[in-house]
Amino acid sequence: PKAPPVAHYNLNNVTITSDPLGNQENILLLTPMARFYQQYWDNLLKLSYPHELITLGFILPKTKEGNAATTELQKQIAKTQKSGPEKDRFKSIIILRQDFDPPLQSQDEAERHKIQNQKIRRAAMAKARNSLLFTTLGPATSWVLWLDADVIETPPSLIQDLAAHNKPVIAPNCFQRFYNTEKKTMDERPYDFNNWQDSPTAVELAKKMGPDDILLEGYADMATYRALMAYMHKADGLKQETVPLDGVGGAALLVKADVHRDGAMFPPFSFYHLIETEGFAKMAKRLGWQPFGLPNYKVYHYNE
Ligand code: GDP
Ligand code: MN
Repeated sequence: PKAPPVAHYNLNNVTITSDPLGNQENILLLTPMARFYQQYWDNLLKLSYPHELITLGFILPKTKEGNAATTELQKQIAKTQKSGPEKDRFKSIIILRQDFDPPLQSQDEAERHKIQNQKIRRAAMAKARNSLLFTTLGPATSWVLWLDADVIETPPSLIQDLAAHNKPVIAPNCFQRFYNTEKKTMDERPYDFNNWQDSPTAVELAKKMGPDDILLEGYADMATYRALMAYMHKADGLKQETVPLDGVGGAALLVKADVHRDGAMFPPFSFYHLIETEGFAKMAKRLGWQPFGLPNYKVYHYNE
């Protein structure tokens, strides 16, 4: 009888370079999804990176809303992978259902952004991201692109553009389009405040906190005076401009797979008084991987 086959992977042969397309590098695109937006899927299909090199991974909550989103997602997957044009088809797709309790209750934007809801919510999100990451990261993965389900507009060359900087962790600037009732015209505003550079005030605040307390960004009663990338955007600024970051958001984030393989994950607890994606940035830094951001390279979040 033949010995059982053994798959050998030499991680040294998996390149992670500024030219992923030229080197045919595999991308793992991960999305925690509470709601399905058609614009998100349409935007995915427009990504110009070869789809045969992209694996998609989703995690959805086991709630009524999560069930509805799963149904919608599966419908679109069937369309794209079975009857759609061959060039649209992705290498593979994995869907996970989140089965830890209690499941997060469905919350609108105002409710989920309330400060007293944040720690529980962010911890649950961190666990969802970790489950998704640890069940999908493979030996041939070069890059992990985190893309939230409500990021509905990115440049088609997103993967190539972000990877070109050859940074361990890199975040574009997440904005939101809205109708400006004063100007009576469409407008845009910064959305993601989790991309930041640390401040002496935040460092001092953290020193006075209990071991389980976390710092949060974007709340008036917790003024951190951190430098937010959301506000570093310049209309005439260079798209390639990079800034070092101490905290990152997960709306859109490209990570070298080695950063995750080294053990950087999303702490669902206070890690240096940071949680989830912000804690991830800190962990990456402690492992020697410096995160960066692109203040003038924009992606857009859905407007609820
Ligand atoms: P916000 O934009 O910072 O308010 O955060 P969101 O509520 O948009 O959550 C970030 C991402 O996680 C989005 O892609 C959501 O669809 C998704 N999400 C939100 N809550 C859950 C949840 O309970 N479970 C899972 N699996 N995904 C979630
Ligand atoms: Mn969102």
